Amino acid sequence: MGCCGSKPKPNSGSNAIPISHHQPQPLSVSHQQPQKVSAPPTHNPPPPPRPEPQQAPQYQPKPKPQPQHQPQPQPQQPRIPVPVKPLAPPNSILEKPFVDIKEHYTLGKELGRGQFGITYLCTDKSTGQTYACKSILKRKLVSKSDRDDIKREIQIMQHMSGQPNIVEIKGAYEDRYSVHLVMELCAGGELFDRIIAQGVYSERAAAAIVRDIVNVVHSCHVMAVMHRDLKPENFLLSSKGEGAILKVTDFGLSVFIEEGKVYRDIVGSAYYVAPEVLRRSYGKEIDIWSAGVILYILLSGVPPFWAETERGIFDAILEGVVDFESQPWPSISDSAKDLVRKMLTQDPKKRITSLKVLEHPWLREGGEASDKPIDSAVLSRMKQLRAMNKLKKLALKVIAENLSEEEIKGLKVMFTNMDTDKSGTITYEELKTGFARIGSRLSEAEVRQLMDAADVDGNGSIDYIEFISATMHRHRLERDEHLYKAFQYFDKDSSGYITRDELEAAMKEHGMGDENTIKEIISEVDADNDGRINYTEFCTMMRSGNQPGKHS
Ligand code: ADP
Ligand code: MG
Repeated sequence: MGCCGSKPKPNSGSNAIPISHHQPQPLSVSHQQPQKVSAPPTHNPPPPPRPEPQQAPQYQPKPKPQPQHQPQPQPQQPRIPVPVKPLAPPNSILEKPFVDIKEHYTLGKELGRGQFGITYLCTDKSTGQTYACKSILKRKLVSKSDRDDIKREIQIMQHMSGQPNIVEIKGAYEDRYSVHLVMELCAGGELFDRIIAQGVYSERAAAAIVRDIVNVVHSCHVMAVMHRDLKPENFLLSSKGEGAILKVTDFGLSVFIEEGKVYRDIVGSAYYVAPEVLRRSYGKEIDIWSAGVILYILLSGVPPFWAETERGIFDAILEGVVDFESQPWPSISDSAKDLVRKMLTQDPKKRITSLKVLEHPWLREGGEASDKPIDSAVLSRMKQLRAMNKLKKLALKVIAENLSEEEIKGLKVMFTNMDTDKSGTITYEELKTGFARIGSRLSEAEVRQLMDAADVDGNGSIDYIEFISATMHRHRLERDEHLYKAFQYFDKDSSGYITRDELEAAMKEHGMGDENTIKEIISEVDADNDGRINYTEFCTMMRSGNQPGKHS
């Protein structure tokens, strides 16, 4: 956590990983407080802070549709839950009511700790399901930027939800003293503990780990997220046994990648920080550098840039000389060294990209794991669209229009990044190049299908709301208040039913829905065969075929 400049550290002066005098020793895993970079180096005096203009989006989201009717209890209607938004307490960070987490969860043993938070094992009292809960004391979040950071951490975890190599967030809660992030439990613990326990490992094993790590980097970048704190402590194993999946966590320092924006905050952890971060001008390439540092450590047991002090480490990073002479490098394959060199290239523009890493012969060698990066969450959500009927798509659009800025921040950034000519709409060409840029190798026909699926009004391009509705996390639409609002939108006379005429009118309004489509929708959704759609039938339709958080 912490984005802007230096952070005080609890045990200033020592490094996260204890290494003895002068002679780099094999890494021992330490459970000391991980260090965040604490001070800019003196080489390049930092430029005076300048306000970074928020890239103003070019599009104007359409005005939200005003609800036609206030939800009123009406005797002839089925009982529909009417959401009431309770007020958040004045000192709330998450801007929602406080919840006593102990009412819902039992907190167990400590799993780990970082700079701000302690992570505990936690059990859902109603289901017995175990999770991990990262609890952050609010009194440690002193500045506004600390408070914003925690909000962004939650936002980014939610945005990244549904990717297999990313720790899934279940919920965020707040009470008087703390903010709690409940997330999926990674029972296998930290990556490094596992490596140490298993002892010496082969180049092949290291390649498999780095392939996973770079796949994670790729997934993050595809979703327009820069992690900024990649290090072994933040990679966890899903389970104890064989076949555990590697997952990244700790988005406390992460930010959304806005195309063309230059980032300047000095953040990260000393050994893993890229030289351009220290020079205060960087982009997403820094994550590849950090992954390169991890690879070097995996192969040799020592970090590539090492010194007794943090300043010394920074000097070594800026100097950029990588030692391939000492043991065990002479016995390591040239191909492995080639990849390390490419990942630890000083100039971020010349540094290898995540896609190229995944294609590198050393990573591919012997590894049966696919070199093709997995679909991004956005792509798999768009693919789901194809199976949806038009009513559902239109309802998604209504829901998308009602989402708060907070909820769609990540997708909004992705939309802007894809809309290269900043016209406010994504054309077929932009969609194609957008997916190609993020490494999804789709055929022309597939891109065309996605385009058709997302272009609800059929005008040949995807507008902002269509993009959000096509790619929003399906968790969102499970929320009762969203479903209710969408239902209301169609049920103009608040009769509790969407009639054939109402459906036709709504569809026409959006330039869709001929006679046959409407017939089809009704016959598909109207379970009790009364010729109209009630709220229960509507909800069943909306929830069907959604596997929140899972790849389809
Ligand atoms: P910080 O931002 O304070 O570094 P992290 O999110 O990295 O917090 O969590 C600190 C440590 O807690 C991790 O390094 C790990 O050991 C443990 N931990 C975090 N999340 C989980 C999880 N989902 N499952 C198991 N252990 C976890
Ligand atoms: Mg951490």
